[in-house]
Amino acid sequence: MPAELIDGKQIAADIRSQIQGEVEEIKAKAGKVPGLATVLVGSRRDSQTYVKMKKRACKKAGIASFSHDLPEDISQEELLEIVRDLNANPDVHGILVQLPLPDHIVEDEILAAISLEKDVDGFHPINIGRLSMKRRQPLFVPCTPKGCIELLDRTGVKIEGKNAVVLGRSNIVGLPVAMLLLHRNATVTICHSYTQNLPGKVVDADILIAAVGRAEMVRGDWIKPGAVVIDVGMNAVDDPTSEKGYRLVGDVKFDEAIEVASAITPVPGGVGPMTIAMLLRNTVDSAKNLLGMRK
Ligand code: NAP
Repeated sequence: MPAELIDGKQIAADIRSQIQGEVEEIKAKAGKVPGLATVLVGSRRDSQTYVKMKKRACKKAGIASFSHDLPEDISQEELLEIVRDLNANPDVHGILVQLPLPDHIVEDEILAAISLEKDVDGFHPINIGRLSMKRRQPLFVPCTPKGCIELLDRTGVKIEGKNAVVLGRSNIVGLPVAMLLLHRNATVTICHSYTQNLPGKVVDADILIAAVGRAEMVRGDWIKPGAVVIDVGMNAVDDPTSEKGYRLVGDVKFDEAIEVASAITPVPGGVGPMTIAMLLRNTVDSAKNLLGMRK
């Protein structure tokens, strides 16, 4: 029997509609709406698209956006000054600095300058540090990893005691998602470009999270029958039949994996929409916190 399709688009839509209700409630109680500041440096097409999608989602949910589209050659000090201003702005409850930043900018210093209470992307070193320690709660969890766990939870997948294999160890996806799975009592294996015999590791996975950025690398015969597959990968491959000349595929060969897994996310329509929903979630949580509305 083919795997159940984990419909990230629908799950994200449900979350976004709940968030919309919460925004109304904040407005009624505090007379303010949550605000998200986006900081975009340079003119990378992919970054521009991501920021545009995030701002559009904010608008739909009733969240105010504050855009800072900055030139590629902005100095470290000028960028830090903008972050400090946003930290001090009471209408801004979340600050998102779109990564990657240009090479001349020291990314760590910029991320560390974001107020911990407004770090809705969860990349401040203290938030990441807390995520990596037992019994420490980060204020915010990075959006894509948080979205992966939410998909598992909402699909009714039990995480505790399961073998989870994470492909990739980036700061943005692989590492934080591995930490989240560990905190939920999975036995976690993290694989990367130096891992020997990757198929031999993947086959042990009850839960597989693929975040390598390699188009359709994971084949159906690597996957344990009945495994749950969360495919984070978003890879553009040439497709002359498509209007754009390309299409998006995941890190997992979907048509093979669907025959073996018990549940799987599609690409697109799986993890992608969840990343944005989790950003809105973090922004609304931050607004509640900063406006003194936390339970
Ligand atoms: P990244 O920073 O490039 O990291 C890729 C990771 O995969 C690295 O840890 C790398 O190992 C590992 N890797 C690369 N090739 C490998 C191979 N052949 N075998 C085993 N491991 C390999 O990428 P990322 O930012 O984590 O993103 C990963 C994918 O997720 C990309 O397709 C990206 O577009 C997508 N993504 C999607 C969303 C979303 O919202 N859906 C969000 C973020 C990212 P080393 O550490 O050894 O180099």
